[in-house]
Amino acid sequence: MPLFSFSRFRSASFRVFFPLLLAVQLCFSSESLLILLAPYPSLISTFPYIMLSIVIFLSQPFNQGATGLVALLMVISFYLVQNYVGIADLTDIQRFTFCLLVFALPVNLFVIHFLPEKRLLSRFGINYLLLILFQVIWCWLLLEQITNENVSWLWNAYLKPIPALSSSPLLLIIISIILTLVSAFIVLFRNSNFDHTIFINLLFSTIALIFFDSPQISAICFSLAATLLLLGIITSSHELAFIDQLTELQGRRALEIEMEHINGLYTIAMLDVDHFKLFNDSYGHRTGDEVLRLVAQIMKQTEGNASVFRYGGEEFVILFKGKNSNQCLPYLNDLRSKIANYDLVIRDHHDRPILDKDVKKYGLDDGEHTTVNITVSIGVADSINDKTNQHDLRTDDVFKAADKALYRAKNGGRNRVTNLRFA
Ligand code: GH3
Ligand code: MG
Ligand code: MG
Repeated sequence: MPLFSFSRFRSASFRVFFPLLLAVQLCFSSESLLILLAPYPSLISTFPYIMLSIVIFLSQPFNQGATGLVALLMVISFYLVQNYVGIADLTDIQRFTFCLLVFALPVNLFVIHFLPEKRLLSRFGINYLLLILFQVIWCWLLLEQITNENVSWLWNAYLKPIPALSSSPLLLIIISIILTLVSAFIVLFRNSNFDHTIFINLLFSTIALIFFDSPQISAICFSLAATLLLLGIITSSHELAFIDQLTELQGRRALEIEMEHINGLYTIAMLDVDHFKLFNDSYGHRTGDEVLRLVAQIMKQTEGNASVFRYGGEEFVILFKGKNSNQCLPYLNDLRSKIANYDLVIRDHHDRPILDKDVKKYGLDDGEHTTVNITVSIGVADSINDKTNQHDLRTDDVFKAADKALYRAKNGGRNRVTNLRFA
């Protein structure tokens, strides 16, 4: 994988540890940051609005309703904190409002993890908005009710801060931290973009809560969260455009872009699963899909600095930069034999795990099963022009030659690697 690759941004560990790293850095450098940013107070307080508005705006065309929803919650919370809750001389009611808000924000963010459908205008989305509306009305009624009562016992009993740590109530900080940690585990286990979005906001709203005394730090937290949301939107739209969903390999569009910029010496290998139509007919399309995923997994391990793409259907392309086709043959033969030697365990029931590795994972090994092997044929060609002996063959011609070699491999009996030049 190249050093700078979008697939890194999509890994579960990056999604958890990168925001955490930023958060820790923010905590340790908060004082110097405040000094650095002191001359720009209005920029700091408007930046979260700008960034969050961009996120809300982009979330719609990019079909990221949940991200938009989360950003909306963040904007409202930021507005309330900035405008209705002062820092010094808080009245009881202001403090109470603040506590309700900083309890409601993480809980409502956390709940989104479990919404079955994340679009704003879906059944669940609308119910969710109604739930928030209900909470707002309930809080408003509650605040009306206690306006004239003395609620200071509440702080002493439940909402005491620890001044050395933060001026926010310890209990609320703990709740927020626990929800953030659970959210981090959800990201690590499920690694979905939605979960990631929620985690980022839980994390930075927790830090904003801890540094509540400093409105600039809260503003920086909200800005950082919005920036990471934006990165999330960009990453997932990149994923939609360039990554094949079934195999999680790079797709045809990614290959086309790679080929537009390629020059010099390179080798293309076209791989096609043998008799795959027959396989689908015998074992079902779903089993076929799992086989394609498996082939992709094995292909990812190809050595020789190979980049692997799903070209379409049961066809794949492997690109080796800086190597001629002869140099790539050992890697391709390794790959071919790895696939041919992989025993696929096919179960009777289609709702049971089909592949070997899944059986281990789920521990289901009852009932009848058969073992089959699949094979692949590979055609290889490189960019060396036989007439000029330079690396100047057009990419179209390299593809044509690889396709021809693949055809030769099929006709030659399949389960083989064919290289026309050195044949
Ligand atoms: P050959 O050895 O000559 O390549 O034979 P083949 O049957 O593999 O070739 P053919 O091109 O006739 O059939 C390709 C089959 O691949 C047809 C289609 O059902 C199947 N296929 C293509 N894409 C997918 C997919 O995404 N999932 C599944 N399960 N099957 C697919
Ligand atoms: Mg085919
Ligand atoms: Mg085929």
